[in-house]
Amino acid sequence: MKIKAAVSPATGQPFQMEEVELDDLRSNEVLVRIVGTGLCHTDLFFKNDVPIPLPAVYGHEGAGIVEKVGEKVAAVKPGDHVALSYNSCGVCKNCLKGMPFYCANFNGLNYGGARGDGTMPITKDGIPLYGCFFGQSSLANFSLATERNVVKVPEDVPLEILGPLGCGVMTGAGTVINALKVRAGSSIAVFGAGSVGLSAVMAAKVAGCACIIAIDVKPNRLELAKELGATHVINSAEKNAVDGVKGITGSGADYSVDSTGVPAVVRQAIDGIDLAGRCALLGSSPIGTEASFNMNEFLTGRSVVGVIEGEAVPQIFIPQLIDLYKQGKFPFDKLIKFYDAKDINKAVEDSEKGVTLKPVIRFDGKI
Ligand SMILES: [Zn+2]
Ligand SMILES: [Zn+2]
Repeated sequence: MKIKAAVSPATGQPFQMEEVELDDLRSNEVLVRIVGTGLCHTDLFFKNDVPIPLPAVYGHEGAGIVEKVGEKVAAVKPGDHVALSYNSCGVCKNCLKGMPFYCANFNGLNYGGARGDGTMPITKDGIPLYGCFFGQSSLANFSLATERNVVKVPEDVPLEILGPLGCGVMTGAGTVINALKVRAGSSIAVFGAGSVGLSAVMAAKVAGCACIIAIDVKPNRLELAKELGATHVINSAEKNAVDGVKGITGSGADYSVDSTGVPAVVRQAIDGIDLAGRCALLGSSPIGTEASFNMNEFLTGRSVVGVIEGEAVPQIFIPQLIDLYKQGKFPFDKLIKFYDAKDINKAVEDSEKGVTLKPVIRFDGKI
């Protein structure tokens, strides 16, 4: 079928809305009419920095309505509202253990540009495009997902806000709730107050952290952090963040999260935790990046854990976040600004400038 997609023609080039061809669905696949897709840092990292040899269709925070399902699909049916998340194989050791976020085939299924069997479902004039990004390539008005990465969502919440739950919001919130398993009454320092960091702040409030410190260099983000649950903020352009965290907590935070992936900030996130504190790293960095820490201080029970996708099983965690949103406890829609599909390059620009925390691109079926 013919679809409209935001095509990235070559590394570093702006998106172009183009008509492309989408293959028929396979037995395990789900065709979704996309309503809104969030732009995530990983889309922009691939678009700007990864030398993909073919034009590409990215997008991995899609939300829409199921149009058609393959004959083996049982999880959803046509007409269901769904959010799309990361893909996993379902048969490797970690998938079988209930940890699809550490799927042994994660890279191939999410970044490989093709289906697991190597076929490429998006073509233009007979030439295949890099697609199946996170099993969805949802910066388009239709997306071919798989049963493994669609999540049925309730119909009494606005569908166009739900896409970001599939990656960025789930990553920040899941790191606090699933990976760190923070305790009520504890203290947490969140480094970087972008959409992922602010999702961590909201989750820390939900989980009952008594002291929630947000650290960033942008005053507008720190203001929003306070609105979303931060009890303290530190502008690290004006003040040393580690001194700031120790000043507030006395001896360091019980937990910290780095959402930046910048080695100097990672070091601060480690140095800012108390004895026996836990630090989670979730920011992606250029390939080959290394960070360091002080060996002797680390011996005092401190631990650092790397986290992907908030250690969340999307089909379980996303509905939980939606319930919290409906109860007014997780107002993630405050991060979102909508853009029409034709304005996608403006959305990229606003995101890169930090003006917009979480752009969501709206697809209306016509474009
Ligand atoms: Zn797997
Ligand atoms: Zn993402």
